[in-house]
Amino acid sequence: MAKKSEVSAKELKEKLFMQKKNAYLRMTDDDVKKCDKFCEGYKSFLNTAKTEREATAFVEAEAKKAGFVPFDKKKTYKTGDKIYYVNREKAIILAIVGREPIENGVNIVAAHIDSPRLDMKQNPLFEKDDIGYFKTHYYGGIKKYQWPTVPLSLHGVIVKADGTKVTVNIGEDDNDPIFCVSDLLPHLANAQMKRPATEIVRGEELNIVVGSRPFKDDEASEAVKLNLMMILNEKYGITESDFLSAELEAVPAFKARDLGFDRSLVGGYGQDDRVCAYPEFMAILNTKSVRRTAVCVLTDKEEIGSDGNTGLNSSYMKYFIADLAATFGVRCREVLSNSKCLSADVNAAYDPTFSDVFEKNNACVLNGGVCVTKYTGSRGKSGTSDASAEFVGEIRSLLDKNGVIWQTGELGKVDNGGGGTVAMYVANLNVDTIDVGVPVMSMHAPFEITAKADIYAAYRAFVSVIKD
Ligand code: MN
Ligand code: MN
Repeated sequence: MAKKSEVSAKELKEKLFMQKKNAYLRMTDDDVKKCDKFCEGYKSFLNTAKTEREATAFVEAEAKKAGFVPFDKKKTYKTGDKIYYVNREKAIILAIVGREPIENGVNIVAAHIDSPRLDMKQNPLFEKDDIGYFKTHYYGGIKKYQWPTVPLSLHGVIVKADGTKVTVNIGEDDNDPIFCVSDLLPHLANAQMKRPATEIVRGEELNIVVGSRPFKDDEASEAVKLNLMMILNEKYGITESDFLSAELEAVPAFKARDLGFDRSLVGGYGQDDRVCAYPEFMAILNTKSVRRTAVCVLTDKEEIGSDGNTGLNSSYMKYFIADLAATFGVRCREVLSNSKCLSADVNAAYDPTFSDVFEKNNACVLNGGVCVTKYTGSRGKSGTSDASAEFVGEIRSLLDKNGVIWQTGELGKVDNGGGGTVAMYVANLNVDTIDVGVPVMSMHAPFEITAKADIYAAYRAFVSVIKD
């Protein structure tokens, strides 16, 4: 039998057990005020930067205002210099030169600015039975049945035969038209409702309605398509073959809003991962001086596996660090080997309605603070970098030292599935890397939910690492 203790069970529990408390019970009134104000900026970012191209352009413009200048590998740099590098208009890196020599390593924070959506196919426009459509090829992991009957806007670029480029952004302004994928009425959906959920709406059924008025000519076939092409030609100066060299992306047209009577949550599209991208870029924008060189990466292509030259499985971040290191006469590998990185990406917030897929002791919750995720992956930690205990210890004490509200969590029960982030690609460069990000409910849905307290905690976590 155990020796009877002199202290009460309550005291012992406080001393020995992990304390899990809702962030709002740990924040001062002033903290809550700052948090709410921060999230106003966040919502407006969500509404103005809905794609990787728009996020890159927005961040570049803000960075310029804050004194960041384009990186030039022929120049020399000194402590406090602020630089940026844009990769093909779809990814951007911001850096502040630290007080310590660069060979001591850099502090990286990396989030992604692409989100699941419906991309237009290369030959998208067709007419069927007097309705005009765009054919789509979905981008990223979506539940296809969630996308019909959602108001959509169109974003992207069209490169014309002469090489000139038109930017498309239609459906965001209240006076713009919007677009939509149709769905079957329940009255006639008997057969559809018997399909497995992955096929309730099939990929080839995600056709976006783009018009229905025919060109006024009784002889013409495809008169609706002709009328649409005429409108597009007037508006953008394009012909049908210009779609071949276009990137058009359909995303939900609605705006991010406060969610809940208490306004504690944010509802909106594309919060994975702009809910980390915004705090990350605000953290470097609001930082004046850093001990170690700070590098903030906002990358593309995470949702489809990080491959491609704008994703972090390519060499563009390594080349940027190599070029920066070279301006100091230092080898890239020395910098990377001494560097650390927060992979700033979201985790799945515990959902009480679907509690059985989560292992509650190891799930992150809304309002639990920013989530530190030691490993992601699936089927027994496949496809993850799995941060070392030592590095988790370092980050843990850094967050505690700075009073950041944080929690840990892994993505659901072991056998239920899983996911990955950019962490492993950065870790593969011999950088100490760990995932730190905001819990998201309904992740990858057209409308995702996050908690304001967690967003603000993420901002404070990124500030701590950038300054460390
Ligand atoms: Mn993500
Ligand atoms: Mn994702």
